[in-house]
Amino acid sequence: MESINTKCLIIGSGPAGYTAAIYASRANLSPVLYEGLQPGGQLTTTTDVENFPGYPEGVNGFDMMEDFRNQALRFNADIRSGIVTDVDFSNRPFVAKIDDGTVVNAETIIICSGASAKYLGLADEKTFSGRGVSACATCDGFFYRGKTVAVVGGGDTACEEASYLANLAKKVYMIVRKDYLRASKAMQNRVEGIDNIEILYNTNTVGLSGEKTLKKAQLVRFAGTESEEHFEIDIDGFFLAIGHHPNTEFLAGKIELDDKGFIVTKNGTTSTSVEGVFAAGDVADPNYQQAIVAAGSGCKAALDAERFIANHRM
Ligand code: NDP
Repeated sequence: MESINTKCLIIGSGPAGYTAAIYASRANLSPVLYEGLQPGGQLTTTTDVENFPGYPEGVNGFDMMEDFRNQALRFNADIRSGIVTDVDFSNRPFVAKIDDGTVVNAETIIICSGASAKYLGLADEKTFSGRGVSACATCDGFFYRGKTVAVVGGGDTACEEASYLANLAKKVYMIVRKDYLRASKAMQNRVEGIDNIEILYNTNTVGLSGEKTLKKAQLVRFAGTESEEHFEIDIDGFFLAIGHHPNTEFLAGKIELDDKGFIVTKNGTTSTSVEGVFAAGDVADPNYQQAIVAAGSGCKAALDAERFIANHRM
């Protein structure tokens, strides 16, 4: 079993993790970064990122994360594959266990484990998982060329996924539970301007059905009112885009989390309830969840870790 010592362990590899690695490397902290389940994070499954400053023509999310990673490697960050399965914050150095059996002893830890897609909680979602149900249009949209699909949600993610799918599929329904889209005006305008997108407002999904693969969704419009109406749509694909939950399961009971599971940070810093443990990116951000914000907080976390080490003369 390998045991390694580091001044700074970074958990996670989205814009926050890689940015923290760039800053921590340049500050001579020789960080070790574990990439987690999805190297590069959620942006590797998006299409074009059009709002990250510095890319006037937009940039592919996967390519952008490769650039972040290469920049961290250029400053000799030790980037490794693996998932952190357990942490012990009771003493310094902190101890983290990796799924391959490696034990990391770290003077500081920066948690950037991000967030994962939410599901509605219908039993049928599991039944048709991989056979029509997906939470990633860019990963699975290819299988629905010329077919009919539905996207659930009315936020920016749902609009982005619907407009991406509209280029491949014959028809895209958006299933929106309110009578308006929560997405930014630019994204609303985009989906409203695409002919093969039909938005079903005030509508919820109550079931999915099919045989080997998904064939129909059972919907209810105006639930609980006099106008309540039940109907079905024929679909081949059902894409969830209803937000994300933070990846903090491995931290339960070890650090302060809010009621939704996000890591609580203090007074505009990246400090957590455990001195020497910092958090950055979507895992500590219930409000913004933007790549540029995550990158900025990764920078702050590396600076906070550097100052912590200097103040504690490690
Ligand atoms: P949001 O939380 O913004 O939107 C979630 C959507 O899903 C809302 O319409 C919500 O409905 C709906 N929803 C939630 N739970 C359910 C449910 N159980 N049943 C039906 N519908 C449900 O999440 P996003 O992932 O869209 O966006 C997260 C953040 O990332 C936002 O800040 C967004 O701006 C940002 N983002 C930005 C992008 C960009 O700028 N290009 C791209 C993607 C995301 P309701 O409104 O009724 O609550």
